[in-house]
Amino acid sequence: MTNRTRQDEIAAGLAEVEARIAEACRTAGRAREELTLVAVTKTYPASDVRLLAGLGVRDVGENRDQEASAKARECADLGLTWHFIGQLQTNKARSVARYADVVHSVDRLRLVAALGREAVEAGREVTCLIQVALDDDPTRGGARPGDVPALADAVAAAEGLRLGGVMAVAPREEEPGRAFARLREVARALREDHPDAGVVSAGMSGDLSEAVANGATHLRVGTALLGRRKPFVR
Ligand SMILES: *Cc1c(COP(=O)(O)O)cnc(C)c1O
Repeated sequence: MTNRTRQDEIAAGLAEVEARIAEACRTAGRAREELTLVAVTKTYPASDVRLLAGLGVRDVGENRDQEASAKARECADLGLTWHFIGQLQTNKARSVARYADVVHSVDRLRLVAALGREAVEAGREVTCLIQVALDDDPTRGGARPGDVPALADAVAAAEGLRLGGVMAVAPREEEPGRAFARLREVARALREDHPDAGVVSAGMSGDLSEAVANGATHLRVGTALLGRRKPFVR
């Protein structure tokens, strides 16, 4: 496919996503400015990141360190904000802390310690979101809601880290609006102790309007922008 065609394709995807966000904002009585669209570029090449940037997208999300670090390097001249949204092994903290501006998937104390150490060593500040598990599926990561306050305190106390707020993925077996309402409550409680931790990262291609209705500030959208991903082969 020529790059011109790919640009048109991505521009059309972006226009459609923006229309959906605008409609969701209208329904929820919210302003578009309250929301940040994070373009999830996993499995897509750096050339797509460049096209997105040309269309005005400033935030990109990735879920695998190896792929993300290479893309961030290739796109360093674009000045984008890089979001790490995937489950993160502690031994990848060193690499991730060197390019990620925001890590959405902080769900255990060991990871907080590792990210803090590496952020300090890299001379960077990494914003951390506490990933909240909205069901009992252990394969998706996330801290139980009851563990969020201790994790948040640890992030807030760590040199090199900034507490941004919370993140969640809607469970497979539940109406997303109901699940996001629980996330909203966790986020509200968090702000009582940490008033600046206002980020609520929720909503993907399939459930962004439910997320907007429940107070999301960051939407992580891949498929609706870039197309269906090929099954990932390791
Ligand atoms: C892949 C991914 C997304 C984007 O999902 P789409 O359905 O493609 O929009 C959002 N959040 C996380 C954590 C992801 O891994």
